[in-house]
Amino acid sequence: MGSPQMIPFNRPYVSELDRTYIAAALDSGLLTGDGPFTERASSLLSPLVGGATCQLITSCTHALEMTAILLDLELGDEVILPSFTFVSTANAYALRGAVPVFVDCRPDTLNLDETLIESAITSRTRAIVVVHYAGVACEMDEILEIAERHDLVVIEDNAHGLTGTYRGRPLGSFGTFATQSFHATKNIQCGEGGALVINDETAVARCEILREKGTNRSQFFRGQVDKYRWVDLGSSYLPSDILAAHLTAQLEQIGTIQASRHRVWNRYNEELRAWAEQHSVRLPVVPEHTEHPAHLFQLMMPSAEDRTALLDHLSERGVMGTFHYVPLDTSPAGLRYGRTAEGGCPVTEDVSVRLLRLPLFADLTHDEVGTVVDAVTSFVPR
Ligand SMILES: *Cc1c(COP(=O)(O)O)cnc(C)c1O
Repeated sequence: MGSPQMIPFNRPYVSELDRTYIAAALDSGLLTGDGPFTERASSLLSPLVGGATCQLITSCTHALEMTAILLDLELGDEVILPSFTFVSTANAYALRGAVPVFVDCRPDTLNLDETLIESAITSRTRAIVVVHYAGVACEMDEILEIAERHDLVVIEDNAHGLTGTYRGRPLGSFGTFATQSFHATKNIQCGEGGALVINDETAVARCEILREKGTNRSQFFRGQVDKYRWVDLGSSYLPSDILAAHLTAQLEQIGTIQASRHRVWNRYNEELRAWAEQHSVRLPVVPEHTEHPAHLFQLMMPSAEDRTALLDHLSERGVMGTFHYVPLDTSPAGLRYGRTAEGGCPVTEDVSVRLLRLPLFADLTHDEVGTVVDAVTSFVPR
C-alpha cells in the first residue's frame, strides 16, 4: 500500500453516465437479472466480439464454469491451457472433474505456445483454452487447425482481449465460446461481472438454461412454456440489472476509455524504448497481424532481482508497479488437480519472476505518465 499521493496500479473508470444509469436502474425497480439494461449491454457487446450472441454473466470465472458444463466433461477428461494465466482458467474445469493440462507459453507474447499443444494431446483431451495475454492474440490459425485435426473444442478466455484483433478479426470470435471479464481491473468494468460469447448458435438455448439455475425460466418468461422446471445442470449466473446499467454506461464510453488507454500505452512504448534497449529490458511484443486493446503494459526485466529492485525503486517515487501470474502448474492446486505437459513450463517459470506491470488506466493524467516514465528511466538494472 502506498501513500495517498501514490499513483495506483489501477483506478476503475467511473463517470457521470455510470452514476446516471445505475440510478436509473435503481429507480426503475427492476433489480433482478435480465432487465432492460442487461438487454442493452448485451447488444452493445455483441458487435465488439464479431456479432455473436452474448449473455451477461456474474463473472468471467462463472462464464468459464459454464463452458465446463457445456463441454459435458467426464471425470479424467483433459483440457489444455496455459500455466501462465489466472486461476479461474484452470479451476473452472477442475471443478467438473477434468484435468487441466498445463502447456508452456511463448517467450515473446507470453501466450500459449502453439508448437507445444499437439504433443500434450491424449485420447482424453476435450478442449484447448487460450488466453490472449494483454489482449495480444494467440496464433489462432495454428490453434484452430490443431483443434480441427483432433476434434477439440476451442475456448477463448478473452478477459484481457476486448477490442483486440487477430488478422483483422475481433478476439472472442474464434472459439466455440469466449468469456469476457468486467472486473474492476479490466478495461471495461462494472466492479464484478462477465459475459459468455456464444459463437455456436445451437448452444444458445442451453446456455440460457445453465445461466438460470438449470431451469427453462427464460422460455417461461417469453411464454414458450407454461411452467418452468429443472431441466439441466446450472447455477445462478445472471447479474443484477444494476450491474448491467453500470456496464451499459461503460460500453457506451468504450471509445473514450480505449483512446485514453492507448494514449498512455503509446507514451510508455515510445518514452521507455531507449532506456529499455540500453538495459536489455523487453517492452510488450505485439505481432504485426494483431491489434491489442491496451490492457497491460509490462516490462520484462533482465532478472528477478532487477524486478524486485525496480518495484522498490518505483514505490519510493510514488509509483505502484506490480507483478502478475504465478505459474499454475507448480501451484498447490495445480499439482493436485492438474498435469504438466511433457517438458514442463520453463518459460512460464522464467518470465513470471521477471515481469512487472506499470500503472495503466483511462484517467491517468499526462503528468502522472511523466512521473511513471521518470521513475522507470532513473532505474539502472544491475
Ligand atoms: C480477470 C481474469 C479472469 C477472471 O475474471 P473475473 O471476472 O474476475 O472472474 C479470468 N481469466 C483471466 C485471464 C483474467 O485476467
